[in-house]
Amino acid sequence: MSPFRYRILVVDDDDQISAMAKAILELQGYEVHCASDGFGGLTALKQAPPDVIISDLQMPNMSGFEFLSIVRKRFPSIPTIAISGAFSGTDIPDSVLADAFFEKGQFSMSQLFLKITGLLEELPTRPHTESRVKPAVWIPINKANYIAVTCSSCLRTFPVATPLPAGANTAECDACASPVHFHVPDGVQSRSAIQ
Ligand SMILES: [Zn+2]
Repeated sequence: MSPFRYRILVVDDDDQISAMAKAILELQGYEVHCASDGFGGLTALKQAPPDVIISDLQMPNMSGFEFLSIVRKRFPSIPTIAISGAFSGTDIPDSVLADAFFEKGQFSMSQLFLKITGLLEELPTRPHTESRVKPAVWIPINKANYIAVTCSSCLRTFPVATPLPAGANTAECDACASPVHFHVPDGVQSRSAIQ
């Protein structure tokens, strides 16, 4: 076994899921660190930079949408995998800044291992700077009449009142007044009950 182990950071507010992911990934030979929300993820990332990040999306304090936006802007060389029940299918949702997406409960461990291996193989050719960061957009779970958008300039998150047309939209960031162009996913109005 190689003395060098790749490090994976798992960010999920469900402790049972984190513990299970840690056990399974450690069996594959990875070093695994866990955090329970975006703030914890950023702290862990600064203490021990991971080679891959696996993140949930709906979490308290700092959501995975916001966390992944910050990672993409500040640490673009770290590949990210989003795992969530908030979207279905295998495509990366438009509003999520990640390199891969899995729907919670709808994938096999071998699919996940294969994706991690693939991302690690691409590591040396990964860009270390990302010139254009698209904003992350999400819909709060408390049926609020707004969606949350993460500003691609200052990375703060601000609300935009709904209803909004699906597709391209623009709003001014509440913090830095930059115009932020974002894409509203189809079916956003019916998505108020996601968790
Ligand atoms: Zn801003």
